[in-house]
Amino acid sequence: MHALTEGERKFMTRCEVCGNEYDKTMELVVNGISHYYDSFECAIHALAPICEHCGCKIIGHGVEAAGNFYCCAHCASQKGAMGLHDRG
Ligand SMILES: [Zn+2]
Ligand SMILES: [Zn+2]
Repeated sequence: MHALTEGERKFMTRCEVCGNEYDKTMELVVNGISHYYDSFECAIHALAPICEHCGCKIIGHGVEAAGNFYCCAHCASQKGAMGLHDRG
């Protein structure tokens, strides 16, 4: 039996989305601020922009037009943004 010292204790972090405490949360730094999530699903829920046209979460490259985000060039063109092509 061995009592854990402060340094040995597992660092439990709470997911910002669902509140789950987990010792293997992922840390994502956005604009210099750390955010903690227990899963990609929660990270996407919190951080992914939403397509202005179809409303889906943008988890790929997406496209940006006039300050709006779209999941693909097709959605952007449906909203009247011309001359866009999928990146990547
Ligand atoms: Zn979560
Ligand atoms: Zn879309």
